Amino acid sequence: MSSASPVSARPVPRPGVLAIEAYVPGKSGTPGAHKVHKLSSNETPLGASPRAVAALQEAAARLELYPDGTSARLREAIAARYGLDPARIVCGAGSDELLSFLAYAYLGAGDEGIFCAHGFLVYRIAILAAGGTPVLVPERDLTADVDAMLAAVTPRTRIVYLANPNNPTGTYLPFEEVRRLHSGLPPHVLLVLDGAYAEYVRTNDYSAGLELVLDAQNVVMTRTFSKIHGLASLRIGWMVAPPEVVDAVNRIRGPFNLSGIGIAAGAAAIADEAHVAAAIAHNTEWLSWLTQAVTQLGFTVTPSVANFLLMHCPEGPGRSAAEADAFLTARGIIVRRVSSYGLPNALRVTVGSAEANRAFVDALTAFVKGDARA
Ligand SMILES: *Cc1c(COP(=O)(O)O)cnc(C)c1O
Repeated sequence: MSSASPVSARPVPRPGVLAIEAYVPGKSGTPGAHKVHKLSSNETPLGASPRAVAALQEAAARLELYPDGTSARLREAIAARYGLDPARIVCGAGSDELLSFLAYAYLGAGDEGIFCAHGFLVYRIAILAAGGTPVLVPERDLTADVDAMLAAVTPRTRIVYLANPNNPTGTYLPFEEVRRLHSGLPPHVLLVLDGAYAEYVRTNDYSAGLELVLDAQNVVMTRTFSKIHGLASLRIGWMVAPPEVVDAVNRIRGPFNLSGIGIAAGAAAIADEAHVAAAIAHNTEWLSWLTQAVTQLGFTVTPSVANFLLMHCPEGPGRSAAEADAFLTARGIIVRRVSSYGLPNALRVTVGSAEANRAFVDALTAFVKGDARA
């Protein structure tokens, strides 16, 4: 028994745990409003692939059985889609789970994990929960800054998380910049490329980084079924990594971390390339429509390559983000405030259905005109 431990009247979590501010998801509803358009969580307006729903229903006939703990069917479907070795893939209960496993595996007490100033909040939670120290790096124009990230590396750095494209800013790093980041990192630092929105990006200079994962020993790419595949409710993510990283995460992972219905639905979803193509086409069209419409109403929009946009409201009373949010909410339009990301004057708006996008722009137009009707 250790005599050095302080005595406490009740169990006390490690200090890092109490430093976590629990993740607050986007709002789902609004009291009063009839028709609600939820544009707060980057969910797809196209829903899940009908093939995924059919596979789920088939799997629902055998709920008494434990799932395949290795998610083999899903890993094989992903491997077939991307031309990968299934042995290099690990599936998670959402990619969030994998982001946490990577922190648990590679961070010890006092080790540092780096991410961008307006990076995804789950990185901070994962680092703190693992006992590590979060290191926030300033951005340039709301975009990851490779020089600043490299300057933040210390002898304690063990992991770097980069969402590319990033949530909530919608900005991205060209692949040349990702390569430059990787080249500047010591070989023992793990670079985690979070490609949750990779499918939506339409620019030639982008890559989610698969080629880097396959070449290097310290790069992981995580992906999700929650966004373009429309399976957020089932909690399915995956990562591709060097064999040693796969081995480490498989040791930490619960033996049955995915459900049987999730494995079945995910495997069907990734094979439905037409559904993904339709989602990309819808997003490309409406992202540019929304960006134009919001800009014309006098707001600054950060150029986005994802399925959402970040709009900036003036500070002070009248047109503030808080007032716009309240006005929209009262009309059944749910968007995301991003104060917890250090962006108190901005709102994040997901690209929705044609109807939702029009309803959002109509409501925002009424807000700008000072229309008081509820
Ligand atoms: C939505 C999102 C994810 C996906 O999380 P899941 O746990 O797979 O649902 C991961 N990273 C970023 C940056 C996201 O916005």
